Parts: sequence; C-alpha cells; structure tokens
Amino acid sequence: MNSVDGFFDEAGQVYGIDESLIALAKKAVGDTGHAWDEVELTCRHNFLKVMKAYQKVGVGDHHFAGTTGYGYGDLGREALERVFADAFGAERAMVRSQISSGTQAVALGLAALLLPGDELLLSTGAPYDTLQKVIGRSPGDAGSLMEMGINVKQVDLLPDGSPDLDAIGENINSCTKVVFVQRSKGYSWRPALSVDEIGRIVGIVRQANSRAKVLVDNCYGEFVERDEPTAKGADLICGSLIKNPGGGIAPCGGYIAGKDECMERVAMKFTAPGQGDEIGPTLGLSRLFLQGFFLAPFMVCQALKGAIFASGLFRLLGFDTIPGPNDHKGDIVLGILFGNRERLVSFCRGIQESSPVNAQVLPEPAPMPGYDHEVLMGGGTFVQGASSELTVDAPLREPYAGYLQGGFAWEQVALGVLRAIDRMWRQGLVD
Ligand SMILES: *Cc1c(COP(=O)(O)O)cnc(C)c1O
Repeated sequence: MNSVDGFFDEAGQVYGIDESLIALAKKAVGDTGHAWDEVELTCRHNFLKVMKAYQKVGVGDHHFAGTTGYGYGDLGREALERVFADAFGAERAMVRSQISSGTQAVALGLAALLLPGDELLLSTGAPYDTLQKVIGRSPGDAGSLMEMGINVKQVDLLPDGSPDLDAIGENINSCTKVVFVQRSKGYSWRPALSVDEIGRIVGIVRQANSRAKVLVDNCYGEFVERDEPTAKGADLICGSLIKNPGGGIAPCGGYIAGKDECMERVAMKFTAPGQGDEIGPTLGLSRLFLQGFFLAPFMVCQALKGAIFASGLFRLLGFDTIPGPNDHKGDIVLGILFGNRERLVSFCRGIQESSPVNAQVLPEPAPMPGYDHEVLMGGGTFVQGASSELTVDAPLREPYAGYLQGGFAWEQVALGVLRAIDRMWRQGLVD
C-alpha cells in the first residue's frame, strides 16, 4: 500500500469516516498526478527565486530586532521590503503590519494614484465585495473614490470568465488614470486570471494610453504561478499577509509592490507627504514576516495540492467546481457549487469541526464589515481570519457556492474536506 492510501485509511479509522467515501478519496487522489506535479514544479521555481532574494539582500540576524515609535532606520523593514520587491519582480515594495487587510492595501493603491476628475476602469467586472464600498456607489459615500470625484467605468468579463480585451481597449481614454484588475475569483464563480492574461491587459493599456497605470488586486494569487503580474508590466500589485505571502506565519499585514514612480505616491499617501516609507515601526515582527515569506511558496503548494484533491473529489460526487482538478490555477481558491443553503452551511461547519483551533465552535452566518449579505466563514485559524490557513468562505446568496482555500499541508485540507463531506452525508445532504 502507498503512503497516501495509508493516510486515508488511517484518517478514516481515527475519525470514523464512511468507508465508501475513503475509497472515493483514494480515487480522487490517484487522479491528481499531473496537476500535483505541475504545482510542485512551480513551488520549486518560486522557492529558488525567494531564496536568491534573501541572499541578494543579505538578510541577517540584525534584521529581526525591530523598532518602536517612528521606526526610523528600521533595517528589518528595509530588508523585508527589498526581498519582496526582488522576488516579485518589482522596483520597490511596502510591507507593513499597519496595512491590516487586503482591502486596505488595494484602497491605498487606488487612492495613491487617482486624483479628482480621473477615471478608474474596472477591467475584470465587479470587484471583490469589500472593494465595492471602497469605490463607492454614490458621491455621498464617505471616504470612497466616488466622493473624491473619481469617475468609475466597468468592463464585464466575457461569458467564459476571461477579460474582454477589445472592450477594455475601447473604454480607455485620455482621462483613464488607473485600470484595475482582479486576479483571483474572490467570491465570484469565474476562473482566476492567469498572469499571462494580465500581461495582455497591460499591453492593451499601454497602447491605448501610455500614462494609465495598471493596478492588480493580487490577493490569493502570490506564488501560484512562476511570475507575479509586476514581472509582466503591472504598475502596482496589492495583497494581504494573512493570505499567501505571509506563509501562515505573519500575524497581520499587507503589501504593495510595483514601479518606483507609483510606489513613491503610495508611500506619501500611506503615512504623510514628506514621511513616506521612511517611518513605520516593526515592533519586532520582521522575523515573522521574513520567515513567513520564505515559507510561502511551500504553503501555497500545499494549499493548491489540497484544492486539487478537493476539486477532484467533489466532481466524483457530482458537484461542479472551479477550477477543475486539471484546469489552470491562478489563485488558491476552490469554488464549490452547493446549490442550496443547507449543504453550504453544513460543509462550512464540517470544515470548522476539523480545524486545530475552535473545532468545538459552531459557526453562524453573520453580517461582516464590508459585505452586503450574510457570510459564513468556517475554519479555526491561529491568526484571526487568516485564509492562508484552511478556511471556507460562503456568501449566503445564489448560487450557494462555497470558496475553500488555504491549509498548511494537503493532508489537513483532505481531512477537513472528508470530514465535512461525511457530515453532509450523515445529514442526508449528499448521495
Ligand atoms: C481577500 C480579498 C480581498 C480583501 O482582502 P481582505 O484582507 O479580506 O480585506 C480583496 N480582493 C480579493 C480578490 C480577495 O480575495
């Protein structure tokens, strides 16, 4: 017997999982060969890229000390930001504990580049839920881009979920200052963009208006492919450290990386003009950020292997998933179509029951800041809300899709998914 099948047998016994489900799991994992190999190859490439960055920057013990107060001359912060920039193919980066969410990182990037009267083009359809509030729906929305007098246009994705390149080109004019691209599917039923597709958008933008900037919401995309969008010409990428690039270790934080000219504006917007990126105490967190970023390619690999397994297993059970086990991966998120509220809620609770933290807590749907509808989040994490750890997010709305992501090891993802399906099975919610 191979060690993978042995793991499923033992997990089945330890947790009393239905035998026919264990048999199905072995079949699903047996089908993952090529997809798992691809993910491991990408991981090894990214590991080497990151390793080189640490050595090039000369990371040392002295970078782990940290500063307080203003954080002037914080060596750890400077090294961390150089490592990020180098690994991401960017000219400069800001990596800060004071950026508390991915939403804040994207909002900062947008606010830094846009001035009253400018036009923002959303090139990949409606953006992630929390960003809709950042953009605003009417000029009365306090703090929103609309209130700042920015005009917003949107180009929807094509029916197959790919960007509508012709329409993007046609909608760029002399007032277009920023073209916004969302790489990940977020909470929408569409494939993630590939970095190549983002590169094509950059090409179109450059042709249509050479002064317009491309800002990419890179959440959930880091290290899924060999390059980040910055290496294909994107001007700014923004993301969260409690997703991929924190490697499950960073206790908080966010980043922005990109072209010098844009990063200068980001720095001034983030603190204050004149202070820029030269202040910002790290309070001793630099070691965790550096350690997490170093581990991130491996964490992303494990999360992807788990997602590929889960996608295959759900398809064997007759559920639609996005992406399919052998489809291109542009983010770590797996969409699973549950079709009704009961199944979705049961699955989320099953994932939570299978977590190392808060397994005894039953998650309830709740309103969340930034979201319009109730959201159910399953998964007990060491870092609050960290979706680099195994979690499932479920906006409670049609078509009742759950979005599964993260996990420190594919075995953790597999166990969580099996126990959650077993739970649904016992409740008569799956055949
Ligand atoms: C998670 C996410 C965000 C927002 O990040 P938060 O940390 O939840 O604020 C934005 N865009 C996408 C695509 C995301 O996946």
